Amino acid sequence: MIRIFKFGGASVKDAAAVRNMTTIVDRFKDDQLVIVVSAMGKTTNALERVNRLRFDSMSYAEPLAEIRNYHEQIIDDLFGADSAGRLVLQQHLEALDSVLAQPCSSHFDLEYDQIIVFGELISTAIIEAWFRHCSMDSEWFDARAIIRTDNRYRDARVDWDQSARQLGPLKEALDSGKRCILQGFIGRDETGNSTSLGREGSDFTAAIMAYLLDAADVTIWKDVPGMLNADPKWFKNTVKLDSISFKEAIELAYYGASVIHPKTIKPLQNKGIPLYIKSFLDPDSPGTIIQESTANDGQVPSYIFKGNQVLLSIATRDFSFVVEDNLKEIFEAIAEAGVRIHLMENSAISFSVVFDYDDYKLQLLTDKLKANYSVRYNEPLTLITIRHWDDATVTTLTAGREILLEQRSRHTLRMLTRN
Ligand code: ASP
Ligand code: MG
Repeated sequence: MIRIFKFGGASVKDAAAVRNMTTIVDRFKDDQLVIVVSAMGKTTNALERVNRLRFDSMSYAEPLAEIRNYHEQIIDDLFGADSAGRLVLQQHLEALDSVLAQPCSSHFDLEYDQIIVFGELISTAIIEAWFRHCSMDSEWFDARAIIRTDNRYRDARVDWDQSARQLGPLKEALDSGKRCILQGFIGRDETGNSTSLGREGSDFTAAIMAYLLDAADVTIWKDVPGMLNADPKWFKNTVKLDSISFKEAIELAYYGASVIHPKTIKPLQNKGIPLYIKSFLDPDSPGTIIQESTANDGQVPSYIFKGNQVLLSIATRDFSFVVEDNLKEIFEAIAEAGVRIHLMENSAISFSVVFDYDDYKLQLLTDKLKANYSVRYNEPLTLITIRHWDDATVTTLTAGREILLEQRSRHTLRMLTRN
């Protein structure tokens, strides 16, 4: 039975976490395991800083040293005198160095992807070396040799057919009883450049692998007991959702529930592959199952808070109405700027969109629009979504908040607030 396990950054953030994930993996000796792993801890953020500094022609020595020291500490705690961990780290850091030594192009997202992949390459290499150290039969795979994507850097789209054709060596390893370890989040385009699937994209990789291999199920191991009806950071009394449908999970992820990457569900739904979200701290508890049946959807309201939102209001310069031709132009600019719309509203003379605040994209979009439109924006704002809302929860949530925009449908209520 082929099963896909995904371990995120928190589940491999230090030596104790790696030991714990090893114990979990070791419990599934009878299964054919594909283990998808993220970068350790906050490594991706540190690599983002490296990329930003290099792009701005500034010294990136500090975040780079931080990355090295952080992994060395984990390796020393794990391996002691065995040099296997140090060796693989050194190998990947040298490869990173040679990427960094190349001249930097003016294509920010392209440069980003060439660098960002090292978080996952390093974490998986350390873990595979650790499995071997523990005499656990395993094999390391470069996900970039399997997952073919287009060249939309930082948000690459998967070429499913080509990826399916590149599964041979992994299937062989599975058949020979090896645990296959590969990186989440990364792929490669036709020209050989590295690509990435969007922040938090490792879940999606797990789903891609499940789809391609017709896996029996996928388990995402997390530091929460399952999918909760709200983020514990914002809410005290969260409730675990025991079982929800693919359809409901897509809605929740779409609105920003941070527990799973939004693209994860669709491939699983297409093949009816169940997804478990379980706690790596309490692997015996049932967690959440996401599957076909909608029977349990909507039993409890879910609350999704998305902070750091910007509201951009676009009006014609001559106060004429915003008509279809304008919308076409505006949507084109939005797509070109790589902006993802979370909410939109149009009135006679203006069109408003809400999206994640990102200074670079905001500037790009504003520049594209300002020749023909007057553009104003508000930030930072919070977008609150309530699935399966009722009047009582709405009253509690809106108390004392300034609401800039609101949209209601039968199952979903969305509000943009200033705090
Ligand atoms: N390491 C990547 C990130 O931090 C991908 C992931 O964790 O899923 O976004
Ligand atoms: Mg993560």
